[in-house]
Amino acid sequence: MSKKDANSVSSNIKLITKQEMVLIKNSEEAKNTNIYGNLYGCLEAYTDLTKSKLNKDLVFDSKARMTITNNKKLLMENVKKEWYSKTLYMIATEDTFCQLCGRKNVYVCYIVNRLNGIELNVGRDCVSKFDTISGLKTVISNLDKAQRDYKKDERRIDFEVREGEEVGFLKQAESTLVNFPILLPYNLSCDLKNTLADCNRAKNIYIKNGNNIDEAFETFSTLRETFKYLHKKALKYFEAVKNHPLICDRSLTNWIVDNCPHVQEVIEKNSGILNEESLRFICEPNFIKGKIPVFMAHFDSCDVKIIGVEGDVIRFFIKNDIYFQPITFVVPIRDFMKYIGSKCLTDEYYKYTNKNLSSVKIENTGANYEAIYSSIGDTLKSNGYNFIIDNKTSQAYWEKRQSRTAINRWRKNEIPEKPIYKKTSKEELFKIISKILFDEDLLIKSPYILTGKIDISGRWITKAEKDENARIAAFAAGQQKQREFIPY
Ligand SMILES: [Zn+2]
Repeated sequence: MSKKDANSVSSNIKLITKQEMVLIKNSEEAKNTNIYGNLYGCLEAYTDLTKSKLNKDLVFDSKARMTITNNKKLLMENVKKEWYSKTLYMIATEDTFCQLCGRKNVYVCYIVNRLNGIELNVGRDCVSKFDTISGLKTVISNLDKAQRDYKKDERRIDFEVREGEEVGFLKQAESTLVNFPILLPYNLSCDLKNTLADCNRAKNIYIKNGNNIDEAFETFSTLRETFKYLHKKALKYFEAVKNHPLICDRSLTNWIVDNCPHVQEVIEKNSGILNEESLRFICEPNFIKGKIPVFMAHFDSCDVKIIGVEGDVIRFFIKNDIYFQPITFVVPIRDFMKYIGSKCLTDEYYKYTNKNLSSVKIENTGANYEAIYSSIGDTLKSNGYNFIIDNKTSQAYWEKRQSRTAINRWRKNEIPEKPIYKKTSKEELFKIISKILFDEDLLIKSPYILTGKIDISGRWITKAEKDENARIAAFAAGQQKQREFIPY
């Protein structure tokens, strides 16, 4: 390069670019003549400023020249401080041109001057050049994302054009799997899920990264065909097993997913058929309802019958020589299935009796109270006990008549004493009877089974203490009533 050429290059160097010029002219900073001399007025004639133009123009005073050649950086920094971005960005709906460089804009961002309120629309390139203007860094990251998304949309459309009529395949396949009428065998189920996941991935990787659409679509189509083949296989399997009594249908599968997800794999590994291991966890009421006849068939009991399923329990009643009025009780489905139901459904020779029932709970009803009292009342009394309900307070008590054996010279003498009491409740009575409900020896041979349970906890009090408690309770209730009726 000759010296002359080098000179002309350096004299063409832009001291102020077109973009900077627009920004300076719309700002207040350069108007300060104390600092910048007559700069602002001189710039009016220019759209940009090169070294040679500056050299030729004698109107610039020394402060203005000094600013341009040595202090432009400071000037621009102060200029930029006057501006901030008003919006993130918008996509222009009609022709919009960047007011700094004049190029056409798709993504539009507005910057505003804090001092004079002037607004400028700035395009993508200029936003990057002036990214120290307040808010523009955020605009840039949002713009980048928008542009990436735009490219992704383009690639998605390209890919889906190739999919043609089958464009809904992925969604449809997903729904086919989620709604398949039964739980499938483990390997088949995994193959279907994995193939569909790979198929999804093939498409998404192309949309995300681009690369070769032919290769991506080839991979996708192969996987799509594999999925269709596996799906046919699944339908065939369904046809073969659909009448099996222990097939795990869709509604039961959904229940398992929500309540005991770990059981799903156990069933899948047993070819989608429920077995004892998985049945131990199944408490879905409708499924259980449907199996009641099976549970009855395996029940070796002449005095207990199943009434049905209600919520999460199975209801029974017992009626025999001891309980001549039927007593209804419940067993949680959970316990029943864990120990009994799972065996009934898988072992045709299995039998169970009353004694196998666990977590038995007599229902808290008036009829049950009547039935229990009329059955055990006499036994209680003949052993010195009773269950009473205080008329005034409705408080239930165990009553116990004590007897003292006095020995005098001639004979042993049973001397009756005043009864003692212990607070209790109908619930407590039901709880005790629930535990010994199936004990056939209970009343005749072993009344101590019952009385022992009554004695086991709580504190016996005298009649005087009991009456005092009742009096206090009545007094407290009266106070409460009085308070309620105080007129204000
Ligand atoms: Zn621009």
